[in-house]
Amino acid sequence: MRSLYVHIPFCNRICTYCDFNKVLIKNQPVDAYLMALKQEIDSFPVTDLKTIYVGGGTPTSLSMKQLEFLLQTIKNKFGQVSEYTFEANPDELTTEKISLLKDYDVNRISLGVQTFNNDLLKVLGRTHNFDDIYRSIEHMNKIGLDNYSIDLMYNLPGEKLMDIEDSLKNIEILKPKHISWYSLIIEPHTVFYNKINRGQMSIGSSIKEGEIYGRVINGLNDIGYPQYEISNFSQKEFQSQHNKTYWLNENYLAAGAGSHGYIGDMRYYNIKPVTHYIKSMNDHKNVVKEKIKLNKTDMMEEEMFLRLRLNQGVSIERFEDKFNMPIYDVYGKALDKHINLGHLQQNDHYISLTDEGRMIGNDIFVDFLIDD
Ligand code: SF4
Repeated sequence: MRSLYVHIPFCNRICTYCDFNKVLIKNQPVDAYLMALKQEIDSFPVTDLKTIYVGGGTPTSLSMKQLEFLLQTIKNKFGQVSEYTFEANPDELTTEKISLLKDYDVNRISLGVQTFNNDLLKVLGRTHNFDDIYRSIEHMNKIGLDNYSIDLMYNLPGEKLMDIEDSLKNIEILKPKHISWYSLIIEPHTVFYNKINRGQMSIGSSIKEGEIYGRVINGLNDIGYPQYEISNFSQKEFQSQHNKTYWLNENYLAAGAGSHGYIGDMRYYNIKPVTHYIKSMNDHKNVVKEKIKLNKTDMMEEEMFLRLRLNQGVSIERFEDKFNMPIYDVYGKALDKHINLGHLQQNDHYISLTDEGRMIGNDIFVDFLIDD
């Protein structure tokens, strides 16, 4: 087992675009949740991992005492890992919290920046501003927890190309080790979605999405952040080992409300609502809501979708070893089509998206669905 994901579903404010499993922290049974989470973590039959990622929600919305309880729970169970990441919001990342995380061997922070433009941050409903971003990074550098990733979004309502250039300039100044830069997707049941439906807001930026994405890729490459996944970029040797567990289609554990893990050929999904999660752990010592056993077809499809996200692509040898069939016997038609169209390329060992293919990834992925 390579990895563990831990979900903390609490936030100090709900962002307008968010459809993650989260609740406002005020009046929530946070201590009871952490106790149930401890029971789930303690029940895992594994103590040796390569990566741990604590996400949310916002893990930094926890108090110092709650944060220490969580860190101690993880420390008691698992040995040293090579990459241990906490998600954090810039305005919640105090010097005390950074020092505490560092004391418990957290060695990577994923900072939810989203944009450097204060007006856009307000539209997104974020609690932080430009100054908070710089302040939190200054604190991390001073305390020596300086391996941090910046999370950004593009395709924001009212966004201009100038905002992308501004983010690139700030990245050049701050020099984070890693950048995740996703296109905003308007999901149902979000404030954004409702506003669009009521005609109070228009979708996305006025600039073509492909144009912004192209600028993000080239702009980051020019300042030392080559792309290694559809939405991820890093300095050399700082690719996210944890997220690569997902994209390499490897097994991982997950703990917490609404989290999902992948063990052997089974994907499991935990109960989502916080109170139900706690009750189920207390009453039944079990928080799994659903288990889905993957058949060979599911697994071949996932191997393609996930690994094609990486610039490295799908390993031809691994596919054959894993499924006992040459990749061309299964996907010959789709591979030939997209290689001829210039969407895919092949070398001796890998098949990967071309720059052009990366722009239309989802359109290509549907051709790797197998008719049952
Ligand atoms: S802080 Fe993150 S998880 Fe919480 S509401 Fe905002 S986007 Fe969602």
